[in-house]
Amino acid sequence: MSQADIISGGAVSACGMEIIMRKVVKFGGSSLASAEQFEKVGEIIRADKSRRYVVPSAPGKRNSKDTKVTDMLYACYALAEEGKNFDDALAKIKARYDEIISGLSLDLNLDAEFETIKKNFKAKAGADYAASRGEYLNGIVMANYLGYEFVDAAEVIVFDDEGNFKAKKTDEILSERLANIERAVVPGFYGAKADGTVKTFSRGGSDVTGSIVAKAVHADIYENWTDVSGFLAADPRIIDNPVPITTITYKELRELSYMGASVLHEDAIFPVRKEGIPINIKNTNKPNDEGTYIVESTCRQPEYTITGIAGKKGFVAVNIEKDMMNSEIGFGRKVLEAFEEHGISFEHVPSGIDTMTVFVHQEEFVGKEQEVLSAIHRLAQPDSIDLEAELALIAVVGRGMKSNKGVAAKVFDALAKENINIKMIDQGSSEINIIIGVKNADFETAIKAIYGIFVTK
Ligand code: ASP
Repeated sequence: MSQADIISGGAVSACGMEIIMRKVVKFGGSSLASAEQFEKVGEIIRADKSRRYVVPSAPGKRNSKDTKVTDMLYACYALAEEGKNFDDALAKIKARYDEIISGLSLDLNLDAEFETIKKNFKAKAGADYAASRGEYLNGIVMANYLGYEFVDAAEVIVFDDEGNFKAKKTDEILSERLANIERAVVPGFYGAKADGTVKTFSRGGSDVTGSIVAKAVHADIYENWTDVSGFLAADPRIIDNPVPITTITYKELRELSYMGASVLHEDAIFPVRKEGIPINIKNTNKPNDEGTYIVESTCRQPEYTITGIAGKKGFVAVNIEKDMMNSEIGFGRKVLEAFEEHGISFEHVPSGIDTMTVFVHQEEFVGKEQEVLSAIHRLAQPDSIDLEAELALIAVVGRGMKSNKGVAAKVFDALAKENINIKMIDQGSSEINIIIGVKNADFETAIKAIYGIFVTK
């Protein structure tokens, strides 16, 4: 039996009663960009009666030159805020929904909704309110299409006055509300503060809503439907046809997405992770592909030693030297304080006996570099500081690495063969990742070299 068999559809209990599983299904913008895509989604939902709670994004791009409804809404609201006429811009947005509604032959009219939106735009309801209307309206369309109940996210997803998401309060309200609803549509991406002001998550935030709903209903699985069949072991723009990842742990995914692998919003794993609810990334356009399962832990041995490689360019290494640094208590704290004073977060801090290096994002650092350097001198009195820019960090991630000897040696060997100088190496204490610093210019070659030694097809 495959993992897919275990997780799909209903099951039969020991006393012969059918237990209907509970699945939360989130569909991304490209899965809902047109009536045709909606039909695929409808088929997917109807194929499995346990798909009871649906979280839609706003309609995305229908083709590569198209604009996402969310971006249209931001642009339209910018006109409203400048006091300019936004009638045409809003009409174009309405046309996107009308096309879906008529393509699905729904008995639904959004005129009154758009009147309200227009009024609220004029009253400067805020960019978050504006952007959230993409999901809100798509939720109404989806609920009408499926015959499910519509639950406005503004009533059940709670933010505090500062705009921070309130996980506990949301869980209380949402689980109580959904306990009595057999099948519901909850639009993604937004919620509201106590005074009713709409607040969105960061871009791509419908993934987060899906996870919150999955936790609230104690889902058996959170299916996240998108336009790719899950995660790949490396960026396909660098590696031709990288192998798919069938199972990945939350921890591995966290490492990879932090380092730039993007399919799922970074914060989407937190709500379900605590409940041990697996996430299955699925492809709306290829529903029979298994996709990627994101799980707490698994006995499934990865096929290769590494699960995946990801990385980012654009780092600066701040190299600090001071004789006898190793015996000076508080030296590291003083150095890091200089970064903190200037609101700069650090990525990695490898250190030697008389040296310490702080890796920071170049973009965040350049404007403040001289201030930070003088703060380091003032606070920690080093002998010298030297900056090295245009660096990249690469994360080699895999639960299989812990039990395999010589992983780091293989990485070094592969990079040496390509004549790549390693600027930094850092193995996380969990032993599921090795972070390597190289020059930006060596980034792609380094990824190819590492992928090549571990993944042999
Ligand atoms: N529609 C929003 C965005 O484009 C949120 C989402 O799709 O998850 O970012």
